[in-house]
Amino acid sequence: MLEIAGLSSGYGGPAVLKDVSLHVGAGEIVTVVGANGAGKTTLLNAVAGLLRPSGGTVRLDGAAIGGRPAERIVRAGLSLVPEGRQVVAPLSVEENLLVGAYGRKRGDVKETLAAVYNRFPRLKERRRQPAGLLSGGEQQMLAIGRALMAGPRVLLLDEPSMGLAPLIVSEIFTLLRELNQQGLTMLLVEQNARKALALAKRGYVLDGGRIVLEGPAEELAKSPAIVDAYLGVA
Ligand code: ATP
Repeated sequence: MLEIAGLSSGYGGPAVLKDVSLHVGAGEIVTVVGANGAGKTTLLNAVAGLLRPSGGTVRLDGAAIGGRPAERIVRAGLSLVPEGRQVVAPLSVEENLLVGAYGRKRGDVKETLAAVYNRFPRLKERRRQPAGLLSGGEQQMLAIGRALMAGPRVLLLDEPSMGLAPLIVSEIFTLLRELNQQGLTMLLVEQNARKALALAKRGYVLDGGRIVLEGPAEELAKSPAIVDAYLGVA
C-alpha cells in the first residue's frame, strides 16, 4: 500500500536519511524504531511532504506521491500525527479537529467529526475548551483525531508515546490497535521500541539515517542487537 524506495532527505547539508526502503501492506502496523537522532522524524516528514526528498520514490497504492505538496499527500489518503502533537493551543478542541478536515466536503466533515467524537468522548466533552488546556494524553488524542479528520487510509505516527506517563501510553497504544482493527494502516516511528514492537506486525531499525535491520516485530524484539541497543536488559 505504502512503498518507500531509496528515499534520501535532509536539511540542505549532507543527507540525514540515506537510501531508505520500506513498505507497509494494507491493514498492517509497521514500526520504525531507532535512537534519538536516528532520522525517524526526518523519514516521516519526507514521506508526508513536509520535507523534500533528495532522492528515491514514495508510492501510495501505486501512485507516486514523493515530493508532492503536503496537502496533496493528505488528499491522496496519508495523514501525519506529528512529533510533539503540535495542537494549536489557543484554538478550541473542535477548531483543531476542523483544521485536519481542511478542503473536505461539508457532509464528510460532519460525519467524520461525529465518528471522532464517538471514539474520543473526552474530546467531545471538552470541544469548546482551548486545546492548550488539555492534558498531554488528551492532546495526543486530539492530534490523532485531527489526522483522522482528513479521512486517511494510512496514518503516520511520530512518537505518540513521547512525554506521556506509562498508563497514558498504554491507553494510546490500545487506541491505535483498535483503529488498526477497523482497517487503518499505520507506520509508527518510536523510541519506545518495546511498546512499538509489541503493537506492530513488522519492524525496521533505523540507525544513522539507514535501515540496518528489518523483520517480524516479534523476532526483532528478541534480537540481541535490539535488546542491547533499545530495550535494555531483557
Ligand atoms: P528524535 O527522537 O530526537 O526526534 P529522530 O530519530 O526523529 O530523533 P530526526 O529528528 O529525524 O531524528 O533527526 C535526524 C538528524 O537530523 C539529527 O542529526 C538532527 O540533528 C538532524 N536534524 C533534525 N532536524 C533538523 C533541522 N531542522 N535542521 C538541521 N538538521 C536537523
